[in-house]
Amino acid sequence: MLLNLRQLFLEEGKSVSFSETMPNTDEELWPGHPVASPIRLTGEVNNRAGIVTLTYTAAFRFHSQCDRCCAEVDRQENYRFTHVLLQQLENEDDDGYIVIPDGTLELFGLASADISLELPTKVLCSEDCKGLCPVCGKNLNEGSCGCQTKEVDPRFAKLLTLLEKDK
Ligand SMILES: [Zn+2]
Ligand SMILES: [Zn+2]
Repeated sequence: MLLNLRQLFLEEGKSVSFSETMPNTDEELWPGHPVASPIRLTGEVNNRAGIVTLTYTAAFRFHSQCDRCCAEVDRQENYRFTHVLLQQLENEDDDGYIVIPDGTLELFGLASADISLELPTKVLCSEDCKGLCPVCGKNLNEGSCGCQTKEVDPRFAKLLTLLEKDK
């Protein structure tokens, strides 16, 4: 999806808005398929006093598994992004800007990169997910299991085993 912004770069005060649906079928881009619906991109590009700013929202359904308890996580996500667009770099330190010399922006490519960076590296069903019992595998969000899960110093573990035998 190419946004042609050549005219916008020339006219201060001009803005261009867009609303596009980006497919979510690229398997390489979304390993594990956390993006479970086509991605709705809504936003606008403004030229304010010669500074061209892109602001947009990416809305989609996020679907994955909780890293602690393996419960399904399914929620609506709305990520918001802002970028300053330039046709040429004015000094070498200007990284963080997006340079589009020909005045056209590949919107889907940019959005894919933005969303990939924003997707959580750790997925939790809730902030205080208790996870699974390491002993019996019970989901501790549904209640405790009564297992002794206190961590034992490995140096004492063997001793404890010996003591158990003596009982
Ligand atoms: Zn969980
Ligand atoms: Zn247990």
